[in-house]
Amino acid sequence: MSTTQPPPPADATSVSTPATVSPGAGWLGVLGGGQLGRMFVHAAQVHGFRVAVLEPDPSSPAGAAADVHLRAAYTDAGALDELGRRCVAITTEFENVPAASLRALAALTRVSPPADAVEVCQHRAVEKATFAAAGVPCAPHAVITNTEEAAAAALAPLLPGILKTARLGYDGKGQATVSTVVDVAAAWAAMGRVPCVLEQRLPLRHEISVIVARGRDGQVVHLPVQQNLHRQGILAVTQVPAPDVPAATSAQAVALAQRLAQALQYVGVLCVEFFVLEDGSLVANEMAPRPHNSGHYSIDACDVSQFDLQVRTLAGLPLAAPRQHSPAVMLNLLGDLWFAAGSDTPRTPDWPAVLALPGVRLHLYGKAEARLGRKMGHLTVTAADAATARNTALQAAARLGLPAF
Ligand code: ATP
Ligand code: MG
Repeated sequence: MSTTQPPPPADATSVSTPATVSPGAGWLGVLGGGQLGRMFVHAAQVHGFRVAVLEPDPSSPAGAAADVHLRAAYTDAGALDELGRRCVAITTEFENVPAASLRALAALTRVSPPADAVEVCQHRAVEKATFAAAGVPCAPHAVITNTEEAAAAALAPLLPGILKTARLGYDGKGQATVSTVVDVAAAWAAMGRVPCVLEQRLPLRHEISVIVARGRDGQVVHLPVQQNLHRQGILAVTQVPAPDVPAATSAQAVALAQRLAQALQYVGVLCVEFFVLEDGSLVANEMAPRPHNSGHYSIDACDVSQFDLQVRTLAGLPLAAPRQHSPAVMLNLLGDLWFAAGSDTPRTPDWPAVLALPGVRLHLYGKAEARLGRKMGHLTVTAADAATARNTALQAAARLGLPAF
């Protein structure tokens, strides 16, 4: 095993990288400059790696933390070549990175997750077909690609439903609530007649998510099940352990997420979001080929975080099963907090007031501009027991002007 060998030549068609990249040796790369990339950079640097970020935005959260920031488009051939030659392994921090870029990089160096798996997560219809093929239940749905499909009487059993764009939806964007077939046709036209998925609106009791990490050798580990509260389609609160989810349901969710990782021959960190329905059954909502907002608590509450797992899978390091050492509650901090309630008057949230509470850890992503709905940071509250973590998180929420949960 060597960790000092030079990068392969640019015309390499097969990649031979060492099975394990030793911590402290060499460069890791990431496509994308958001907060997930920033937290990956921090975890990689803790392990002694240096990190290069490819991101066009000159002032991105990950670019600011990286050892090297390549400011170029994700499709820029020269920048991809430089990244691929510099780094012993490369990952992505968002699912909409062009698959062609991942494939180009894979000709130069080790890339995980694989482009095929990332591509599945870019298209809701393909994602749902993948769930079904792996034996993972998902919401009853129909794919809509033309005017006839958008007005078909056969859609009626799916109503009331949610029309979602097949591509590029996040934080509830690209979604419309629809009650009649006429609504569907109108909403589809309003979305620009792009391919969509109509999903039946399901009776949700809870929302949960599971993060698994699968190594190149097929070993899979997971974090504990996360219980998530969304507001206006955006994650607001994550509680771990999940206070309202029976152990058998959690075990089933973990098994389904592991089955998906296996079916995709996945390498890296994968998050699967599930609905727990009123009858207690589980339905997969969507998956993310990367660490996930609902896993941020793991930085402060687990001995191996989701970003440590990303580093380990990328570098081929052992995947010791993570242990949660403290119950945790995570509160997302959206840009709304940077404005006086109901106005556009800027303000600074009262950080000293929340940091005065025991067990509170503040994470800000270094975004220059606060906007409504924009994820600016999060708070993790840990304590010796779940009730104390929850009570402290409720106090923190009150001090910031966030609703109770
Ligand atoms: P993300 O930011 O997680 O990628 P997204 O924009 O892709 O979000 P979804 O996860 O599809 O959106 O939906 C956002 C939220 O809307 C869900 O967490 C859930 O609260 C609600 N929702 C979505 N689909 C359904 C459904 N079929 N039935 C009931 N509620 C739903
Ligand atoms: Mg979602």
